Amino acid sequence: MALDSKIPSGPISDKWTNYKDHINLVNPANKRNLDVIVVGTGLAGGSAAATLAELGYNVKAFCFQDSPRRAHSIAAQGGINAAKNYQGDGDSVFRLFYDTVKGGDYRAREANVHRLAEVSTNIIDQCVAQGVPLAREYGGLLDNRSFGGALVSRTFYARGQTGQQLLLGAYSAMNRQIGRGKIKMHNRHEMLDIVIVNGKARGIIARNLITGEIERHSAHAVVIASGGYGNVFFLSTNAMGSNATAAWKIHKKGAYFANPCYTQIHPTCIPVSGDHQSKLTLMSESLRNDGRIWVPAKIEDAIAIREGKKKAIDLSEAERDYYLERRYPAFGNLVPRDVASRAAKERCDAGFGVNKTGEAVYLDFAAAIQRYGKEQAFLKGIDANDKQAVTQLGTEVVKNKYGNLFQMYYKIVDEDPYTSPMMIYPAVHYTMGGTWVDYNLMTTIPGCFSIGESNFSDHGANRLGASALMQGLADGYFVLPYTIGDYLSPDIKMGTISTDTPEFEAAEKGVKDQIEKFMNNNGTHSVDYFHRKLGKIMWDKVGMARNAQGLNEAITEIAALREEFYKDVKVPGTDKGFNQELEKATRVADFLELGELFAKDALHRNESCGGHFREEYQTEDGEAKRDDENFAYVAAWEYKGKPSDAVLHKEDLVFDTVKLVQRNYK
Ligand SMILES: Cc1cc2nc3c(=O)[nH]c(=O)nc-3n(C[C@H](O)[C@H](O)[C@H](O)COP(=O)(O)OP(=O)(O)OC[C@H]3O[C@@H](n4cnc5c(N)ncnc54)[C@H](O)[C@@H]3O)c2cc1C
Repeated sequence: MALDSKIPSGPISDKWTNYKDHINLVNPANKRNLDVIVVGTGLAGGSAAATLAELGYNVKAFCFQDSPRRAHSIAAQGGINAAKNYQGDGDSVFRLFYDTVKGGDYRAREANVHRLAEVSTNIIDQCVAQGVPLAREYGGLLDNRSFGGALVSRTFYARGQTGQQLLLGAYSAMNRQIGRGKIKMHNRHEMLDIVIVNGKARGIIARNLITGEIERHSAHAVVIASGGYGNVFFLSTNAMGSNATAAWKIHKKGAYFANPCYTQIHPTCIPVSGDHQSKLTLMSESLRNDGRIWVPAKIEDAIAIREGKKKAIDLSEAERDYYLERRYPAFGNLVPRDVASRAAKERCDAGFGVNKTGEAVYLDFAAAIQRYGKEQAFLKGIDANDKQAVTQLGTEVVKNKYGNLFQMYYKIVDEDPYTSPMMIYPAVHYTMGGTWVDYNLMTTIPGCFSIGESNFSDHGANRLGASALMQGLADGYFVLPYTIGDYLSPDIKMGTISTDTPEFEAAEKGVKDQIEKFMNNNGTHSVDYFHRKLGKIMWDKVGMARNAQGLNEAITEIAALREEFYKDVKVPGTDKGFNQELEKATRVADFLELGELFAKDALHRNESCGGHFREEYQTEDGEAKRDDENFAYVAAWEYKGKPSDAVLHKEDLVFDTVKLVQRNYK
């Protein structure tokens, strides 16, 4: 099938407005004749479900947690971007668009990114109207901070709990509709397959995770909002339950999977401390506003620190290497995430790491504490040379800004980050790849839409901080509610779709067969045993730096591991009730296929761009070397029975606007 991205014609700044003005609408009275399934109730799915129900559609929403309120979106700490220019520092819709395309290393679809920047401002208004307590300045106006890859302050935040507060907003909007009966909420349900009737998505098969019952649900359209697949690495900053099953199942039924190898490795996470871990913890990027990143300048000092003979605070300024400030003076510690992550790896690989494993760098707040402390001392008329008073005042300011993050660090590492620098190291955090969607957010299965992190998104090869929440809410509140109407308008007289059909029966049988196979397998190893092994292959050979040899090895090793998994996995308990091992087994089965496609995609992309770093393609300074001539396209993979047989389709990317601007800047 040829890829048609359905990008509207006309100037980039008018595309979305013109498009909305001309697409088909469903009148309010007819919306109540149409059912929409929304799988996932994080920020993307929650906002979509609430808005669709508010418009009048009958929504059936699904999540595997016990409440939409527990979706992984709740973990988002740092903030959400919007081109409001409240700081008067030169921001605009155009600049947000430009920064996002550039930040994604020119691998995003221009038309979508411009639309995202346009609706970003509506998101803030919507959330404020819902009562989301975004941070405010002393005078009562909404506050902003800076995130990597931007030269303006455009990030709105709610302390270190932005995702949680935004989710409470979407959840309240959902609850209103649940109360009205317009959303039927299915908590603790996991979608295990999609049902396609006459080439169109018409329903899903879901397992009730409490009773074990396999259920059929029908609708006129299906929206997948199931989040990202970072847990293919086993260790990541994602919630433990985050998985790829919904996205992978639709891929197997015809939805192309785009750019699977584009993964973001976040530079500021608490380093791995040993084999016992099953989860990694993010330290928000907002900390890079005030924290300075460094390693010892001399290798002897790094060794002494690793051996416990010296401490960070023993080193003078001259003995420290603030390597980001040194290499990237314009952005300093706020370089984009891919750049910061690779720079940390480069220093640690060169032997300058500062924890026992040699895989950590410092994030230091001493300078910020002194700077803020002196300002406060000046304001309060206290002697700015009184070191103790200045430190105390500065610590208070830092505590007010980042208190909950510092407390979290202290609880996990048992070291006080106010008095000694934090240790951080990159970790898997976000997946820019996902199901391919056109401008309408529809996958290559008619009637199956994909929104939020589960689609291949607007971030190209690297996501700028605070852009995922923006994209998820843009998709759910402001884009899908329009585009889905255009698709649904011919179906207004169709009536309820029956689940008593051969298509539902066949899909249900497939799900039951897989579960039965797992329950009767009688293997010797737990699901985690295989997941951990997969994660190690992914991190070692498909992680922050990749090369052809490692990728070829990974492809062979993952295929072999998958075979071993099916022969030897042990799933205890019963399928007739709550069984988390069974849940994990179906998810890891999908990760074992996705991991292979991931490596295959990374192998075919003979360039480095954004979060995809191929060691063979780098400049003399170790920077990513793009190949715009041959790789300025979205790689969309079609499933053909197994990952190794997947067929590549290319969506060529056009950079009219960005190229024009770059020419004018020169
Ligand atoms: C620690 C951390 C901090 C972050 N901080 C920020 C930040 O400050 N700013 C920012 O912009 N981004 C941030 N991100 C990224 C951002 O949080 C996510 O990209 C975003 O929240 C994803 O939202 P979503 O709605 O697409 O998916 P999710 O929030 O992951 O929701 C997925 C939903 O799908 C459901 N689901 C999944 N599979 C199934 C299935 N098979 N059947 C039924 N239901 C299913 C789940 O139950 C859940 O409801 C952060 C990410 C992490 C890991």
